[in-house]
Amino acid sequence: MEFYHNMSNIYDLIIIGAGPAGITASVYAARKRIIFLVVTKDIGGQAAWSGDIENYTGYQFITGPELASKFEEHMKKYGNNVREGEEAIEVKRKDNIISVKTNRGLYEAKTLVIASGKKSKELGVPGEKEFKNRGVTYCATCDGPLFSGKDVAIIGGGNSALDAALQLIKIAKRLYLINITPNITGDPIMQEKIRESDKVTILNSAEVTAITGDKAVRSIRVKREGKEETLPVQGIFVEIGLIPNSGFAKEVDRNELGEIKVDCHNSTNVPGIFAAGDVTNVPEKQIVIAAGEGSKAALSAFRYLNQSR
Ligand SMILES: Cc1cc2nc3c(=O)[nH]c(=O)nc-3n(C[C@H](O)[C@H](O)[C@H](O)COP(=O)(O)OP(=O)(O)OC[C@H]3O[C@@H](n4cnc5c(N)ncnc54)[C@H](O)[C@@H]3O)c2cc1C
Repeated sequence: MEFYHNMSNIYDLIIIGAGPAGITASVYAARKRIIFLVVTKDIGGQAAWSGDIENYTGYQFITGPELASKFEEHMKKYGNNVREGEEAIEVKRKDNIISVKTNRGLYEAKTLVIASGKKSKELGVPGEKEFKNRGVTYCATCDGPLFSGKDVAIIGGGNSALDAALQLIKIAKRLYLINITPNITGDPIMQEKIRESDKVTILNSAEVTAITGDKAVRSIRVKREGKEETLPVQGIFVEIGLIPNSGFAKEVDRNELGEIKVDCHNSTNVPGIFAAGDVTNVPEKQIVIAAGEGSKAALSAFRYLNQSR
């Protein structure tokens, strides 16, 4: 059931993104009876990519997809004012009205919460683009099962790479963890679990130089100690970090990493535009933090609407 009808075509609030931050903002907006719309590429965001989540309060253990589906259920309890599969490409503010241009249309609102999170960084080596979705992937949770019994490489040495390795240990035949720095930097508990497995070969100070194959990936080329070697693999999981999805918000101040700068009320430099979660410069990128920030941003938008009425 759609609770919130937009009579004037100008929403009180638009929320960009439906990860933990955007979904929580929508729950708070609904409970304040704000007329709002969520515009998002997907529902769940990065939370849905995580294998095991053991640090979201109230759930001692839950998988990413399970938590994401609980979030979605909670959001949709308040109505289905979500445009899924839609990507914001430009945001502008003129005469107190904020316009959000997407790949499908143009929407207007009095306030905006940007909760567009982060996306995976690419390796930028020959073969990566060519073999994307033909062996090269950026999401172990989504694509891991496709590599059952196969040899795979995971690129990276931080928490995302270790999370991917722990998921793939249960699925793949053999794993190479290819890490560019001299040591793995991810959580010690995850490192211990990985070192317990005899399926994993860790290659430190190793740089990927190319991905090769025919119809699908067949091997990866790696440079170590001045020598290049070819490792036969059928799957490559790129887990080398994330960049903020903030390129569409050109008028909004961002830091050198591209993160949107917010104050403790989630306000940006543009009146009426708020931001929350991983897309912002708030330290520590975690689900519980993004959810909390999303609630704050929606409440700040509510306060702004009341003051400007
Ligand atoms: C592999 C992995 C494992 C993790 N494990 C944990 C964990 O165990 N515990 C934990 O607390 N945290 C974990 N994290 C971090 C956590 O997932 C993030 O901190 C959290 O999801 C951030 O939420 P967010 O809503 O800010 O952004 P995101 O989750 O990135 O969501 C962003 C949303 O915006 C949408 N979007 C992006 N660009 C646009 C656009 N232009 N237009 C419209 N929509 C757009 C996306 O589709 C998505 O719905 C993990 C992350 C990864 C990658």
